Amino acid sequence: MVDVVGQYHKIKPDVDAAIHKILDSGQFILGKEVGEFECQIAGYLGVTYAVGCASGTDALQVAMMALDIGPGDEVITTPFTFVATTETIVLLGAKPVYVDIDPKTFNIDPTQIESVITSKTKAIIPVHLYGQAADMDPILEIARKHNLKVIEDSAQALGASYKGRKVCTFGDLSCISYFPSKNLGAFGDAGMVVTNDVALGEKVRMICAHGSKVRYYHETLGVNSRLDTLQAVILSVKLKYLDSWNAARRAAAKRYNELLKGTPATIPFVAPECDHIFHQYTLRAPKRNELAEHLKQKGIPHAIYYPVPLHLQKAFAVAGKQKGAFPVTEQAADEVLSLPIHTELTEEQLVYITDAIKEFYRTL
Ligand SMILES: *Cc1c(COP(=O)(O)O)cnc(C)c1O
Repeated sequence: MVDVVGQYHKIKPDVDAAIHKILDSGQFILGKEVGEFECQIAGYLGVTYAVGCASGTDALQVAMMALDIGPGDEVITTPFTFVATTETIVLLGAKPVYVDIDPKTFNIDPTQIESVITSKTKAIIPVHLYGQAADMDPILEIARKHNLKVIEDSAQALGASYKGRKVCTFGDLSCISYFPSKNLGAFGDAGMVVTNDVALGEKVRMICAHGSKVRYYHETLGVNSRLDTLQAVILSVKLKYLDSWNAARRAAAKRYNELLKGTPATIPFVAPECDHIFHQYTLRAPKRNELAEHLKQKGIPHAIYYPVPLHLQKAFAVAGKQKGAFPVTEQAADEVLSLPIHTELTEEQLVYITDAIKEFYRTL
């Protein structure tokens, strides 16, 4: 699905030099390079504050902790996303309240948000799924009207924009994942919280450091979540390429679209106000499971993001929803299929993959 080794080899001298510098310095934990990378990301996004942490999952958790979300609170989000978004809500003792998705973008449907707001609702977490921004204007408007916080889950969308403005700049807080397969990927786990609210950013930093600003004096309940210096320097080298890599993904997606013309598969919808960065290239495919089997026979990697909506997961029965509660999400879970997309895809690979799909639908 991705080619992390191929990408590494293209930038190997710079990455290796950066790593060796840290090995020689011994500053593995919170070296000055972590702060430098935080500044680079803040500059790239145009936000005022960035806090590195250990993963995108931790970023979601500490962001909610900074907003004092806990038992008795409700957080509105989408059931069609990676588990981390819901898991962290439940871990903090709050309740995830789901809203169905838009059938075209797969993102939370803003028109259904207001009907689930209660006196317990604290925040909305839109997820920019597959690399395309959620419809932020109506979400922000609803949040303002009801005095709710907004946390963007930008794990899949670093560099994407909405109406010309980058994601990560809309919410009170925004969460980034640098998991190796993300568009900007570390060589291990890493994450970040960004914000334009300096006080809130400092609170996040304190929570990430065991709830302390001064070592051994703990003001609040915190966690241990840090961005390794090694990951920071690797990410710093890679950040220079992020826009061109996102463009390469967009070009591959465009080529997939052309090559898949005439097949019954529905190609990804790109909303006119969005600059999609194609973290995933996801089709709606008739006979999805049979197509997946056919691709497997042909040795073509593929994935289903996500086969089971979160409201139907045993672990999240707390949400109290049964099958049929979110029909658009449930249908998407039965139909989606993601194809390999990364910066190293060749024309030959694109043709091979799409030929296999065409062959499958011809022989159906
Ligand atoms: C990857 C991802 C996360 C979690 O990131 P990790 O760094 O793997 O913890 C959260 N939300 C979404 C939507 C993701 O895709």
